[in-house]
Amino acid sequence: MKKSYYNFLFQKKDGKNIVYNSRTGAMAELDEAHMEQIQDWTEQEIEEKNPAFAEALLQNGFAVTDGVSEQDMIQYDSLYARFGSRSLGLTITPTQDCNFRCQYCYEKDVMKPAYMNEETQEALIAYVKENLVPEGIMTVCWYGGEPLMALPVISSLTQKILAVCEEKHVEYKANIVTNGYLLTQETVQELLRCEIRQIQVTLDGSRETHNQRRPLAGGHPTYDVIWNNLLALKAYDKEILVDLRVNVDKSNYQALSDVAEEIRRNGMEHFVRVYPGKVVNDGGCYQQDVCFENREFALLEEAFFKDNKKHLPAKYPKPRHNVCSADAATPW
Ligand code: SF4
Repeated sequence: MKKSYYNFLFQKKDGKNIVYNSRTGAMAELDEAHMEQIQDWTEQEIEEKNPAFAEALLQNGFAVTDGVSEQDMIQYDSLYARFGSRSLGLTITPTQDCNFRCQYCYEKDVMKPAYMNEETQEALIAYVKENLVPEGIMTVCWYGGEPLMALPVISSLTQKILAVCEEKHVEYKANIVTNGYLLTQETVQELLRCEIRQIQVTLDGSRETHNQRRPLAGGHPTYDVIWNNLLALKAYDKEILVDLRVNVDKSNYQALSDVAEEIRRNGMEHFVRVYPGKVVNDGGCYQQDVCFENREFALLEEAFFKDNKKHLPAKYPKPRHNVCSADAATPW
């Protein structure tokens, strides 16, 4: 047995000893005696004097058996994450149309009233049938344009996908990225029928700031409609979770706290998580001098989560074996 190359030992502010393994993601709290043993690692001593501890170290990847190469295991995990076929993740754009004209939209130039036609829908279902592995997992992210402008396409495709999933005993999960304007009660009911339980909506600050940045295509304000739609989701009591994105740059960074405060004041923290999005000047879609540099944005994000811990996402350091779904073979 040998010590894992990927162990990290540290002491928390409250004095607790922690060991974390970045290959397996295992984390354990150790008393002084065990911490010392793992610090002054002599495998024979651990195995002989404390076989139960040695076994626990092996089981959780803090140690590996002789002859095992952790680098090979990492390479395997990385290849499996990219080329393994157990899960199928699709990002589906049912339309390139959008009812908004946000100041910084990077899709401005490709936006058009185009909706997914029958032929493409059939080709998509054929792809799902061919690539979905029995007993696997399927995830769908509905994206746009504004995907709710194509709700009938979402409904029809979902029912067909669900039928394939049922046949192959596949677990199905879906989420949607929407501007929130068309999120009426009727639509929410339909989204639930489509197994969509997670919704990403964007608000760019208080009424005035948001309306200036994210108007309708004709220039009309959108804040009140979106806000009322979000308020109505309170009735679903966590059945629907909302990721409330606040797109910030140097001209509206105060918006982040304003939105978080409004969520708190209205008792919505149990189903809404507020977080900042960084506005970028992708392909010249916005003004570069207003955008934050990466470091400036990171500091702003850190300060926000320090003051708004309820919105802090789960920060357990989970190992990732690929960069994102785009570098895997199955997601599209
Ligand atoms: S809602 Fe999204 S797609 Fe529509 S204009 Fe705004 S940023 Fe662009």
